[in-house]
Amino acid sequence: MSEEKPFCKRITPGFLKKNLEEYKEWVREPLYVCGKCGRVARRSRDLCKPLPLERAAEPSESDE
Ligand SMILES: [Zn+2]
Repeated sequence: MSEEKPFCKRITPGFLKKNLEEYKEWVREPLYVCGKCGRVARRSRDLCKPLPLERAAEPSESDE
């Protein structure tokens, strides 16, 4: 059983009903957003298309 479903795929309405508290922990202080589903998580591996929430190496306009 090496195949682990990404976080995105595990979050279904039924899952939320049973594991809402756990879900809250997962999405607390997220570092990544899924570019495909729009979900957020703290670990990139939990998303199917993780994108960092912080604009890391992007030259921004005097926005600190
Ligand atoms: Zn996703």
